[in-house]
Amino acid sequence: MSWRSFPKIELHLHHEGAAPPAFIRGLAQEKSVNLAGVFAEDGSYAFRDFAHFLQVYEAATSVLKTPDDYARLTLAVLEQSAEQGVIYCESFLSPDFCGGRDLGAWREYLAAIREAAARAEAQMGITLRGIVTCIRHFGPDKARETALCAAETAGDWIVGFGMGGDETRGKQGDFAWAFDCAREAGLKLTTHAGEFGGPASVAQALDDLRVDRIGHGVRAIEDPALVDRLAATGTVLEVCPLSNIALGLYPQMRAHPVERLRAAGVRVTINTDDPPFFHTSMTREFDALERAFDWDEGVFDQLVHNALDAAFCDDATRGKLAKRLAGDADSA
Ligand SMILES: [Zn+2]
Repeated sequence: MSWRSFPKIELHLHHEGAAPPAFIRGLAQEKSVNLAGVFAEDGSYAFRDFAHFLQVYEAATSVLKTPDDYARLTLAVLEQSAEQGVIYCESFLSPDFCGGRDLGAWREYLAAIREAAARAEAQMGITLRGIVTCIRHFGPDKARETALCAAETAGDWIVGFGMGGDETRGKQGDFAWAFDCAREAGLKLTTHAGEFGGPASVAQALDDLRVDRIGHGVRAIEDPALVDRLAATGTVLEVCPLSNIALGLYPQMRAHPVERLRAAGVRVTINTDDPPFFHTSMTREFDALERAFDWDEGVFDQLVHNALDAAFCDDATRGKLAKRLAGDADSA
């Protein structure tokens, strides 16, 4: 069977990192911005290694400057996801990039994004919710400002708070104030850990930030006691297999720990991170996992339900999604 039409839920997607290259190229032309070196001959994003990836990422996303740009980006991203059978996704939105952490500006960006998301939902049947995300290498002070933006706009659409950026800078606990602020505002929490950081970074995320989910978390596999802890607490990992392989964490899918984590009872989910940058999509992830681990429909169904259970949306939305997964066309 083709996994393309299999209904999917995605919990780990960077809004700017999901920008289709053709969309960015078009926007750059409109604005007369020179993006030489960003694209390969075939039109995809071109980078050599992680450091160069960050440079290309920054250059590509530098053309996104206004609420209207973000509205158009939202439509392009959701169209791309809907084509892969995604019925619900949560994306990381950063007030750092949307108005420089100014609350008034952030509200304008957010309104534009939500309006585009509502249009996409009506036209394509895909539901989006936002996770406000601070950038780790910008430091704890800016994370506080980001958390305040998150707290002020928390509700049924902004449903979570998270942290991305360079995992090797500072400690998870340096950001406890921001995460406490977001938790008090009713937001669910996630942070990138155990991708470039080792298993200790995953333990710190649980102990110092008390997160509900872990972004990546795959390097927990290096500490058996931590794997047992994740399984016992039911902590959900937002695993992004082809992103990890593209960035050199693992040489190939068969070497990826997702199957060992799953077999150990850890609740894993499958996600794309920054799909066009890593030449992936939800369908490609499913195809590659099937080939490497011989997973059948029952396994994928379980993983999608892990994502449904771990989604930060309200229970009414979760109930509607559960009906769609069960094939109830009336609820679409
Ligand atoms: Zn990520």
